[in-house]
Amino acid sequence: MIISEIECRSILNKSGISAIDYTINPYTGCEHGCKYCYAVFMKKFSGHKEEWGSFVDVKINAPEVLRKQLRNAKPGLISFSTVTDPYQPLEERYEITRKCLKELIDYDFSVSILTKSKLVLRDIDLLKELKEIDVGFSIGLIDEKAKMIFEPKSSSSKERLDALHGLAKEGIKTWVFFSPVLPYFSDRTEIIDELFFKVSQAGVDYILVDTLQLYPKVWNEVKRILQRFYPEVLPQYKHYLIHKDFYKEEMKVKVLTIAQKYNLTCKFAF
Ligand code: SF4
Repeated sequence: MIISEIECRSILNKSGISAIDYTINPYTGCEHGCKYCYAVFMKKFSGHKEEWGSFVDVKINAPEVLRKQLRNAKPGLISFSTVTDPYQPLEERYEITRKCLKELIDYDFSVSILTKSKLVLRDIDLLKELKEIDVGFSIGLIDEKAKMIFEPKSSSSKERLDALHGLAKEGIKTWVFFSPVLPYFSDRTEIIDELFFKVSQAGVDYILVDTLQLYPKVWNEVKRILQRFYPEVLPQYKHYLIHKDFYKEEMKVKVLTIAQKYNLTCKFAF
């Protein structure tokens, strides 16, 4: 892992996503190294040539920069994070996310955290002090072997579900990002049923669903992994590429039927 400490000029950045006002990405790169990660495009801006997941730039001065930016910023919804995981393993040592959250305590911003790491539990004390907070966990895979291949360094799905339960018990609003729905690994009825049953036990507020975005670089990486570990599944991905719209409509019906069974609220990002 190549770790660089860098200084950023800005950390509270206007979001290009309509539902979110600002983003805070305390790191560039992500140790979790998910094979389908669309944030791989960040390499173009950071100049990294290394494989996604093998480098992280730590924005060492982010808390100080945030303190200055907050003085003049209009309150709104801040997402931690859109192109990195704010609780990737390095956060344990650097605490950049934690220090940024501390800066937000005296302000009226709403904070939304999205992670694949149980490390967020470390910060429950701070989360409870924020004016408005929700924590989402991405969970797309419940098969551990597939998880280790596609999301090598993140917490297991059981750890994520346990963390959701722990947060909900503390009164923190939680949600599940069922994403990306990977053909074969995430989209079979029995898998969604098992996942939604477990989610219903974890006390989450809602599930947000999104399908796999196969940008050319992402598709190349996913295809490489499938060819190596699951060649028999490749035709399903080629089918998905051609019939995406039809697939999405089918998924909506399937997901809603299972969500209803467990009395879960579902939203769709597609
Ligand atoms: S945790 Fe998120 S940001 Fe990190 S590699 Fe995985 S998908 Fe990308």
